[in-house]
Amino acid sequence: MKLITLRDLAIILSILIISVIFLAINFRDNGTYAEISYDGKVVKTVSLSEDSEFSVNDIKFSVKENSVCVVSSPCPDKICVKTGAIKRNGETIICLPEKVSVRIISDDKVSADIIVG
Ligand SMILES: [Zn+2]
Repeated sequence: MKLITLRDLAIILSILIISVIFLAINFRDNGTYAEISYDGKVVKTVSLSEDSEFSVNDIKFSVKENSVCVVSSPCPDKICVKTGAIKRNGETIICLPEKVSVRIISDDKVSADIIVG
């Protein structure tokens, strides 16, 4: 008597395939980006899944641990620097003197649908 029949094997295989598909969907849906705008126009979109540093109009940004923050800015009030790191969908850093804003955009439409429904 066999411990694993062909039918069992087929079930195990389909579970594996479904798991892989779900993982792939989750991986895609968890993509979070920082959208940097200057004067109301999007000038840069950066993925938060990779640590990086970049600048827009002399404002230095840092991406670390799935969040983005302003490291330094030539503006006088430094409100953007004081805002600190943001990471949640919809959160923003605004630098009024430099006309630069950063917005977090998440592809996680699945959870958004659950909230709506
Ligand atoms: Zn500022």
